[in-house]
Amino acid sequence: MTPSIVAYIGVGSNLHDPCTQVKQARIALKSAEKIIETRFSSLYSSPPMGPKNQPDYINAVMAIVTSLSPMELLRCLQVIENNQGRVREQHWGSRTLDLDLLLYDQRQINLPDLIVPHKGIKDRAFVLYPLQEIAPELMIPSLGSIDDLITSCPLSGLKKHP
Ligand code: AMP
Repeated sequence: MTPSIVAYIGVGSNLHDPCTQVKQARIALKSAEKIIETRFSSLYSSPPMGPKNQPDYINAVMAIVTSLSPMELLRCLQVIENNQGRVREQHWGSRTLDLDLLLYDQRQINLPDLIVPHKGIKDRAFVLYPLQEIAPELMIPSLGSIDDLITSCPLSGLKKHP
């Protein structure tokens, strides 16, 4: 039996009413077996990475306690993405829902299907700022404190969503 672990999930959407998609994903995560929500950040809007001819994103970060293994948690995120009709035509293109496993305790995982800490964590404002909001003391394995990472990560158009 895996003990209860603190993990952080990045949530993003830029299609089909993104705010509703993010809120629905939160409900789905809260209802999933062996997942308990402990914090949920504000919603943020951010310009798209990659192709610019797509709508802005809505992003948030959720802190959970879970007894799922890292791979079980990843599969759970993928089921929720698929249930919300995720469509993705191009790399970094529009998507109904993107769920990323950002951190799993202080573990470093390098599997073919799962890299933790998530590889984009250190240079993505839409991950770092919501993370800092809900976990200001957070240390990210091999990368350092959330405060230090934010110092070298400009907002790049990220705004709290009203
Ligand atoms: P994307 O939807 O573009 O974020 O990429 C999804 C792919 O990234 C899937 O095939 C996952 O197996 C892989 N992946 C690797 N590490 C992670 C992670 N920490 N969280 C979510 N997906 C991951």
